Amino acid sequence: MTTPLDGKIALVTGSTSGIGLEIARQLAKAGCRLMLNGIDTPSMVEDAISDLRATGADEVFFSDADLSAPRQAARLIADTLDSFGAIDILVNNAGVQHVAPIETFTDENWDRIVEINLSAPFRLIRQALPAMRANAWGRIINIASVHGLVASRHKSAYVATKHGLVGLTKTVALETAAEPITCNALCPGFVRTALMESQIATQARTGSMSTEEAAESILREKQPSRSFIAASDIGAMVTFLCSEASSQITGSVFTIDGGWTAQ
Ligand code: NAD
Repeated sequence: MTTPLDGKIALVTGSTSGIGLEIARQLAKAGCRLMLNGIDTPSMVEDAISDLRATGADEVFFSDADLSAPRQAARLIADTLDSFGAIDILVNNAGVQHVAPIETFTDENWDRIVEINLSAPFRLIRQALPAMRANAWGRIINIASVHGLVASRHKSAYVATKHGLVGLTKTVALETAAEPITCNALCPGFVRTALMESQIATQARTGSMSTEEAAESILREKQPSRSFIAASDIGAMVTFLCSEASSQITGSVFTIDGGWTAQ
């Protein structure tokens, strides 16, 4: 039985946990061969690989390229090309957060977030495009955030980089518009992953409430649906954007945010 993306080679950054792992799972179900990436413990990586093999993905490789270092984006592309000889789908998913008022936001945190959330996607796109052009087919999907469209206090680097990623998406879409290559961005609201759990824990501590009360309070403030978004919904959207039905969708920015930005 053939699947919609049978044999396509997908590189998903930050795919050893959270949203990235779910994107990888959905792409595997659609028939992709996968290059995983992340900086988690060896056991988390092993779990992610066996999870994907169980989904039916025969070929799953892993690169531990740390995207906080500029030269590691080139290594990640080289690792993918060494393993598969091509790159059809690039999902720029790896992203980090730091919450602090701008007066106390350190240069180190700013630089790390800019490098991982924005500069790494720029470098990965630049270096993946020749491989996509060689096969005359490509899909680039950047996982931005609602914070690519609106701001929240104390998230200066995250908001700035996610707005930048939306701008990068549109520029790449224009530069590839006449080719069978598309570039789009997804802007999720709150998804309950490790990245979110640390914000819930901080809210619980500072507001003297339980973890679940803190989660509810965070949702009440921003996300009208009052439910977390399932990572699998983001994976499903990525899979759709890789399909032939989406060949004319490029430069688009999709919110999946329970009504957050409708307010
Ligand atoms: P997560 O913390 O659960 O997972 C992050 C992944 O990125 C992990 O696989 C980790 O190993 C990898 N990673 C972290 N630093 C890295 C580095 N230096 N080099 C390579 N890989 C690295 O995060 P998540 O919540 O799944 O977020 C994934 C993406 O979705 C991020 O870009 C995030 O900004 C975005 N996003 C998340 C939410 C949310 O509510 N969780 C909402 C909107 C957007």
